Amino acid sequence: MKRFKEALEEGLPILVDTTLRDGEQTAGVVFSNREKLRIAKMLNNLGVHQIEAGIPIMGGDEKEAIKQMVSYNLDSSIMAWSRANIEDVKQSLECGVDAVAISISTSDIHIAHKLRTTREQVLENMTKAVEYAAKNNLYISVNAEDASRSEMDFLVRFAKQAREAGANRLRFCDTIGVLDPFKTHDIISELINKTEMEIEMHTHNDFGMATANALAGLKAGARFLGVTVNGLGERAGNAALEEVAMALKHLFNVDLKVNTSDFYNICEFIARASGRQIYPGKPIVGANTFAHESGIHADGVLKHPSTYEVFSPEDVGLERQIVIGKHSGSKAIKMKFVEYGIDLSDEEAADILEAVRNVTVDLKRTLFDKELMYIYEDYLYEKVKVPSFGERDNES
Ligand code: MN
Repeated sequence: MKRFKEALEEGLPILVDTTLRDGEQTAGVVFSNREKLRIAKMLNNLGVHQIEAGIPIMGGDEKEAIKQMVSYNLDSSIMAWSRANIEDVKQSLECGVDAVAISISTSDIHIAHKLRTTREQVLENMTKAVEYAAKNNLYISVNAEDASRSEMDFLVRFAKQAREAGANRLRFCDTIGVLDPFKTHDIISELINKTEMEIEMHTHNDFGMATANALAGLKAGARFLGVTVNGLGERAGNAALEEVAMALKHLFNVDLKVNTSDFYNICEFIARASGRQIYPGKPIVGANTFAHESGIHADGVLKHPSTYEVFSPEDVGLERQIVIGKHSGSKAIKMKFVEYGIDLSDEEAADILEAVRNVTVDLKRTLFDKELMYIYEDYLYEKVKVPSFGERDNES
């Protein structure tokens, strides 16, 4: 937990990764213990400050994996998730974690229809669990579940009472992802103003704004950012670790010393372990992030990468790709052929470009390199009547 403690003292934003808890809660996703332990090591090597490792009260494998993770003595803090009751916190303590999330809903809709209890009872349960965790020297994040639909006055009361009971921070959960960045900024500013509590953003992506909302919270004074690799998480997922970290680095100029060049590796591992492919347009690590097809873009990138790339592929462990397709230009065609040791004249490049357009529209897709070479072979045959390899074979 060395890194977590140092970041707390330095006053830096803190990344709290919950791939192993909220990420695994995604419908249809389950990690094996072997995968969990590997993921924890990867997150630690990446530079994440705190890892939410799982839910000890589930017992069995879940508890075993958390215990083992703790035994690695990683630089990241290891946090366990508990409901607001003493038994859950006890189970977390048994795992040897240094931090605990204590969670209970604060919105009236959850209190009335899910918990079927009262606000007063919520406060009482939370307080008892937090006091017990504090007595046992755990670092505590009190989770206000469905905070974004909670009444501000009650949320303020909840936060203040949590702090008095010994909580270190309040996790503000946009549980069903209904916030937008503007509203987030207003609410978090007001909450900090009224409570002076440290805030952790926990944002969901139901309207595609999880990352934006996390960063809006940061702008309003929240210091802790809850994230998951690939944005894995309930329904549309959580704020993505790779998006938040890269936005901090390149848009906010905040250097958290995250080894961003590991991103592709870790994202690919999580994609395989969770059975959720990285879609091509996925920000930061999607296959299309550094693939250029259109003539103007490919030409620009070949001359000077930053014309159409905001960071370099190496920055996240990817490679640049010039794709040959309907929108390619002759410069990209020439460059592709140079890779194969063939120097095309301008006239040849123009002819091949025309053929490429015909073929790609026919096939309704881009070409792989071998197909490009076949086009060249056909072209030479037409032009100088060089027999194709097949015909030469037939003659012999
Ligand atoms: Mn969640």
